[in-house]
Amino acid sequence: MDFLPIFLNIRNKVCLVVGGGEVAARKAMLLLQAGAQVSVVAPELDSAFNAYVARGKINYCAECFQLEHLHNIMLVIAATNDRTINQQVSEAAQQRQIPVNVVDDPKLCTFIMPSIIDRSPLLIAVSSGGQSPVLARILRAQLEALIPVAYARVASIAGKFRQQVKQHFIHPEKRRLFWEKVLQGPFTEMVLAGKDKTAQDYLLQSLQHEKDESPQGEVYLVGAGPGNPDLLTFRAMRLMQQADVVVYDRLVSAAILDMVRRDATRIYAGKERNKHTLEQESINQLLVRLAQEGKRVLRLKGGDPFIFGRGGEEIETLASHHIPFQVVPGITAASGVAAYAGIPLTHRDYAQSCIFVTGHLKNKMIDLDWAHLARPNQTIVIYMGLLGLPVLCQQLIVHGLPSSTPAAIIQQGTTQKQKIVTGTLQTLPNLTAAVNLTPPTLIIVGEVVKLHQNLTWFEPTS
Ligand code: SAH
Repeated sequence: MDFLPIFLNIRNKVCLVVGGGEVAARKAMLLLQAGAQVSVVAPELDSAFNAYVARGKINYCAECFQLEHLHNIMLVIAATNDRTINQQVSEAAQQRQIPVNVVDDPKLCTFIMPSIIDRSPLLIAVSSGGQSPVLARILRAQLEALIPVAYARVASIAGKFRQQVKQHFIHPEKRRLFWEKVLQGPFTEMVLAGKDKTAQDYLLQSLQHEKDESPQGEVYLVGAGPGNPDLLTFRAMRLMQQADVVVYDRLVSAAILDMVRRDATRIYAGKERNKHTLEQESINQLLVRLAQEGKRVLRLKGGDPFIFGRGGEEIETLASHHIPFQVVPGITAASGVAAYAGIPLTHRDYAQSCIFVTGHLKNKMIDLDWAHLARPNQTIVIYMGLLGLPVLCQQLIVHGLPSSTPAAIIQQGTTQKQKIVTGTLQTLPNLTAAVNLTPPTLIIVGEVVKLHQNLTWFEPTS
């Protein structure tokens, strides 16, 4: 370890910035954010400083750097574009045992500035020891994406109860276990869902029932998107890491399942056409049973759970059993697949509305409001329509759409197995029959399908 990472309390301490440029301004702002009194020494100031100087936040000294500027200074940052001055500041500061940072010049520094992920009071600092600040920044961006902004509130609420929890437990070990459980359980989820008050009540309740408490289970109903793991939401990813058990559908791709916590139990509840592995009713009951056992249950569904996903039914059962649950939206097949197929679902010139329907066949019929569908300037997206494709196309023509209306069927959209067949209402059924498509497939009907030719961008490798 070349440097010792520490978090310095500079509140109300005088810190000096030497230099008046943009970089100096950024450093000064950072010091202000940490509550310091900031003095700036420079012959001229960049306009970035204006507001702060005007509001009296910064004490500005319009001079060149001199040794006396270091008098009573707790920390100094040199950010001039003149290396001789920077060096002079560094040497003078070191003689006086004042911590000094020279921007982009590690040799002249006694401390270096990390990249910061600010979830105050939670702070994460990343440093490459001055070797590659860009790498540290890249890592920082990745962490930013990984750590929900609301962790700031999780930390402050936990802070509020710290003393109380400390008094409750005699053994530090038990206290640690309590916090681990609280912070990895419903408490954090409640704060992340914006229910701070409920979270605090829950925390206090857990504390009171600590001795005889059995863990409270919960269910996360999560949309996994149309198949490509890149299209998962951050929230889905996070819940996937903390579930004890995952109950997943056929549509959830292997690549996505791979990203679920390694030691979570996996239960397949896939529903293939005419071959229901688990009936809906038993899935509902399974979720209830697992949650009642105290498990954090991830109910992972393809696309969005509230669009042809029966998500509503599953949480109705949970609600009736008073089991806590939350719903995480996913990218539904219509928007994911359309995007990857280069078919905008609406377009000022071609379609002002878009309608999602299911083309599920029942007794060789599809029960849809055809007159409502067969309208001009409307895009129709049909889920579960592969088997019913001939009936669909025929009915749309019978109800008034021109047989030349463009139509497409897309297999396994957004994934490396994406395949698109385009034609018209007249030709699509035969064109589709000629190629062997593997479900899931999505049908898009409307003038917008014409755009595919020019707007296609995604090139699956296989
Ligand atoms: N809740 C899901 C839909 C479930 S119904 C969602 O919001 O997307 C299942 C149907 O979704 C499939 O029959 C198919 O029509 C469609 N579908 C889901 N993923 C798809 C994909 N990657 N490519 C094409 N169609 C898909």
